[in-house]
Amino acid sequence: MVPHPLPARPETARPRGLRTDYCGELRAADAGRTVSVCGWVARRREHGEHLAFIDLRDHTGIVQCVVDGAHELRSEFVVRITGPLRLRPEGTANEALPTGEVEIGAEDVEVLNPAEPPPFGVDGRVDTEEPVRLRYRYVDLRSERMQHNLRIRAVVNAAIRRSMERQGLVEVETPLLWTPTPEGAREFAIPSRLQPGSFYVLPQSPQIAKQLLMVSGFDRYYQIARCMRDEDVRADRQFEFTQLDLEASFVRQEDIWEIATDSVLEATRDVAGEDPPAVVRMTWDEALDRYGTDKPDLRFGMELVRLEEVLASTSFNAFKAAAIRAIRVPAQADLGRGRLDSLTDRAKSLGAAGLVWLRVVAGEGAGAAAIESPVAKFLSPEEQAGILKATESEPGDLVLAVAGERKTTCRVLGQLRLDLGQPEISAKPYRYLWVTDFPLFEGVDEEGNPLAAHHPFTMPHPDDMDRLESDPLSVRSQSYDLVLNGWELGSGSIRIHRADIQRRIFAVLGISEQEAESRFGFLLGAFRYGAPPHGGFAYGIDRLVAILAGEENIREVIAFPKTQSGTDLMASSPRPIPERQLAELGIRIVRPAGLTD
Ligand code: ASP
Repeated sequence: MVPHPLPARPETARPRGLRTDYCGELRAADAGRTVSVCGWVARRREHGEHLAFIDLRDHTGIVQCVVDGAHELRSEFVVRITGPLRLRPEGTANEALPTGEVEIGAEDVEVLNPAEPPPFGVDGRVDTEEPVRLRYRYVDLRSERMQHNLRIRAVVNAAIRRSMERQGLVEVETPLLWTPTPEGAREFAIPSRLQPGSFYVLPQSPQIAKQLLMVSGFDRYYQIARCMRDEDVRADRQFEFTQLDLEASFVRQEDIWEIATDSVLEATRDVAGEDPPAVVRMTWDEALDRYGTDKPDLRFGMELVRLEEVLASTSFNAFKAAAIRAIRVPAQADLGRGRLDSLTDRAKSLGAAGLVWLRVVAGEGAGAAAIESPVAKFLSPEEQAGILKATESEPGDLVLAVAGERKTTCRVLGQLRLDLGQPEISAKPYRYLWVTDFPLFEGVDEEGNPLAAHHPFTMPHPDDMDRLESDPLSVRSQSYDLVLNGWELGSGSIRIHRADIQRRIFAVLGISEQEAESRFGFLLGAFRYGAPPHGGFAYGIDRLVAILAGEENIREVIAFPKTQSGTDLMASSPRPIPERQLAELGIRIVRPAGLTD
C-alpha cells in the first residue's frame, strides 16, 4: 500500500489522443459509455473456451477487459481496447480494485506493440532482486510503487517551486561545469578538450555561485539543483542528488528558517493532505543532551536523562565520570540476557566503557518499584530511588545507563534509543526540527588545525567571536540543520561577508592566503566589490521524498539511480571510452596496480 494517494488529476489534464479514459479512473457511474483505453497487459486469465479477461494497466491503475480469447495478448503487450463499459455481473465485483465494479466489453482490440516476456512481473517485485530491477529499470518503473514514488517527487518539486515563488525567490541556474566548491567531499572531474590537462569540477553544491548572486544583487535566489559528490553510495546518499538550494541577502537566521520551513510544509501538505505538527527549534547542545544526536527523531520519547546529580557522591566506580546519562525503555524489563549482552557490545563498539542495565520491578507496597541489576548492590537505596525518579520509571521498564565523557556518553545512548525505539520510516507524524548553534569547528586535521564543521564561509556566533583564536573548538556558529524524523534534510548558515572575519577564519583553519586565493579567489575578489550580509540553506529533495513516500532508500525515489558501487546497470556506466576520444582529451589511462582489462 502506498502511504498517500496522489493528488487528483486536474480537469485540464484530460485523456487525449488514442484514449477517452484512463484505466484506473473508470467507475460504475461511467457504465453505458463506449470507452477507449490504452496501456500494458498486466494479466490474462482464460474465461471459458472463447473469452479471456485482460487486466489493462496504465499509470492510474487497472481495468478489467473481456476480450475474444483468440487475440494474442501477452504480458506487457501495449494495446488499445475499445468497447462499452458495463457493470460486472452480480456477485463478481472486486472490492480491492477501485475499478472493481466495472469491465470493458472489448469490441476492438488493437495491439500497438507486442512485447517480449518481461524479465519480472511488474507488480510482484518484492521477489525480484535489485540488480535485475535496476538493469530493467524501465520495466521496474511501471510498478504502482515506483509510479507513485516518482509522481510524489513531482508533487514535492512543484510545491517547493510554488513556495519559493510566493516568497519572492528568483530561480537562477548555475553551471554544472564548474570549479571546486567548499563542501569538502571528493569531486568529480571533467577533462577539458580545448585545454588538455585542465579539468572542470562538477559542483558539490551551488554554494559559491549563489553567494556571488547575492553580491550581484539578486536578493533572494533558489534552484532545484543537482549536486555531485564522489562519496560512498549509501541508503541516504547517491553520487548525484537534488537539493533545494536557496540564499537571501539582508536576512537573519530566522528569516532563512521561515523561508525553508514554508517550502517543506507546503510539500508535506500537498503529499500528506495535512499539516504536520509545529516545527520546533533546538540548539545543537540541547539536541545532544536530550537525544544524543544532532538529528533527533522526535516521533518518540525515550529522552536521555541526567543522573549526575542523583549519583553525585556514589561509591560505584563505574559511575564516577563527567557524565552519567540514562534512557528508560518502556516495558522492556524482561529483555533476555542475550539481548542485554548484545546491547552492551553495541554500546562498547560505539565507544562506551560499558553499559549498565537496570530492570525495574514491583517493590514492596502499593505502586512501589525496585531495581534488579548486577550493579544494584553498588547503589545505595537513595541512589536507586533517585534513578527511578529521574527516569520516571515504572515496574516493567528497563533503564540503560552509560557513564563517561559527555559527547560519547550521549551519542551512545542516542544510538541505543534509536535501536530500541525508532518507529518505521513510514510512521507519522512528520516532525520537522531546526537544530541551531552548531559548533563552528569539528575536530582537527593531521596538522592540528580545526576543521570547518559546515564550510569555511560560515559566520561565527557573535557572542563567541573573541574566542576564535584562543579556544576555537568552543566557538558556536550561525549554522543550522533541518531534521525530519531522524534524517538530516539539509544545512545552511549565515555567511561571512566581511574580509577581516574571513581572513581570521582561514588563519584558524590553517588555510594560507595563497591557498584561499587559489581555491576561492574569485569569491573573495567579489567580496571586495560590495557584498551584502547574506545567508542560505539547502536540503535534499531525495531524502524528503523518500520519507514522504515511506522509503528507506533514496534509490526508490530516483528514476535511474546508481548501485552501491556507483554503477548504472541499465546504461552500463561508467565505461571505457574510445581511444580517439581519450586522445582528443589528452588522456592516457594508467591502470591502478592489480587491475587488468
Ligand atoms: N552548500 C551547503 C550544502 O550543500 C548548504 C548551504 O550552506 O547553503 O550543504
